[in-house]
Amino acid sequence: MEEVMIIKIKGEEVPVTLLDKTEKNSNHKNTKKMSMNAVNPVNGSIVEEYRQHTVEQILDIIDKSHASWKMWKDSSFKERAVLLRRAAEILRSRKEKYADLMTKEMGKLTKDGKAEIEKCAWVCDYYAENGEKFLSREDIKTDASSSYVTYNPLGVVLAVMPWNFPFWQVFRFLAPALMAGNGAVLKHASNVTGCSLAIEEINKDAGFPNDIFRSLIIDSSQVKMVIENPLIKAVTLTGSTEAGRSAASIAGQNLKKIVLELGGSDAYVVLKDADVKKAAETCVNSRLINAGQSCIAAKRFIVEQDIYGEFVEEVREILESKSIGSPNDDDTDIGPMARKDLRDEIHEQVQESIKKGANCLLGGVIPDREGAYYPPTLLTDVKPGMPAYEEEIFGPVASVIKANSEEDAIHIANESFFGLGAAIFTSNHEKGEKIAAEELEAGFCAVNDFVRSDPRLPFGGIKESGYGRELSSIGIKEFVNIKTVYVK
Ligand code: NAP
Repeated sequence: MEEVMIIKIKGEEVPVTLLDKTEKNSNHKNTKKMSMNAVNPVNGSIVEEYRQHTVEQILDIIDKSHASWKMWKDSSFKERAVLLRRAAEILRSRKEKYADLMTKEMGKLTKDGKAEIEKCAWVCDYYAENGEKFLSREDIKTDASSSYVTYNPLGVVLAVMPWNFPFWQVFRFLAPALMAGNGAVLKHASNVTGCSLAIEEINKDAGFPNDIFRSLIIDSSQVKMVIENPLIKAVTLTGSTEAGRSAASIAGQNLKKIVLELGGSDAYVVLKDADVKKAAETCVNSRLINAGQSCIAAKRFIVEQDIYGEFVEEVREILESKSIGSPNDDDTDIGPMARKDLRDEIHEQVQESIKKGANCLLGGVIPDREGAYYPPTLLTDVKPGMPAYEEEIFGPVASVIKANSEEDAIHIANESFFGLGAAIFTSNHEKGEKIAAEELEAGFCAVNDFVRSDPRLPFGGIKESGYGRELSSIGIKEFVNIKTVYVK
């Protein structure tokens, strides 16, 4: 069911469609709360109540953002770089404050929150330093007296972002977008509105023009009307495959470009000649990043049968040594999940996998304590048909799959709807590199290490993990008009 409203944009009447809430929920696997309240996952208390923007406010923000962009697009790279460097300074100087906010809104370990803010400062500095070089005119010799390519900004881009890295996900899009001369409006996840407003504050305090970056406090049913707005020139969405599919179809209908950074079920393949202890450590550390709530966490450990038992024992030992506790405590390894409904969803996936024959060697029980906690959990003998094999589990759950041979391991790794990251562990570096470069089906393939995001390296996936790339010289070119100029 859709509700259509006629509104005026620059004097012209334009129909906007509002999705009915029931349709929104049927599109999405999680049953989401409609409120914009930030709820502390440690104790369920309300951190802050936020009122959603009205349709009129949404349209006003987009209008103002577009007006601001019309001036901003003519700014020089040097001017943009100065402001990005200022944003980096502000981030560093307010690191504690923003880390604390993330802890309150989504339960991130405060020590990890500080590292996240440092990384945001890095990406701002990185594009301040390199943006001009990446987007400078490229001359191409042809029959013309002069022919070349320029990279021109597109306009205001809508960013739809998730809660798991509430600052980093935004900055890794925003820094290159602003450096390229674009504007942006952000629809952040409903549980991290405080973070969304904090990012608006950072940009304002850094001296960016008013409205060049604005937060929209809206729920996901309102994303459609924003994408349809003629002043929105492109879209980027980081989130679940379901959300990506929905936004991509709307962007497609409106012939607008979209970049999709979606879910993953990264395969970490451990061959029989690997250093088993080191491989187990890397697999577990990657699995537990952000309490397991990372798109590029190691999610399926695929292990050759000769070392399977030894690997499982190593993993069990490391997982057992991890402490669950307050996210403010420096000694805590695993804090709460971001929301109780997400914790319950993980638990269902684990229980369903056990029902279908997986062995649960550790965890798998919701702890008898306040808060959205879930224990480190080890599932072995994971097989096709189980959620732990087929789906993304967004929590501290290690799924171990036995492979008969190297070929079998690679086959299992690739037999996934997802293709975000992958890793291979072997003492034969040449072989590892060949498998990473040529055989594993993912956007980022690591050898004897974990998958990561780094401003210098392109980041993104294939298959149902999405399309397009963020970061590096490639990411900054996603939202530009690659224009050919041909002079007779
Ligand atoms: P999510 O539920 O898909 O939400 C992500 C964002 O999309 C939120 O702002 C959400 O708004 C919005 N959204 C949800 N359904 C939508 C719809 N039908 N149409 C338009 N927007 C919609 O994902 P999440 O639970 O926040 O994050 C976890 C997922 O993100 C995992 O699958 C993870 O792997 C993926 N992720 C991928 C990357 C990557 O780089 N590839 C990075 C981080 C996370 P509301 O909060 O208002 O629902």
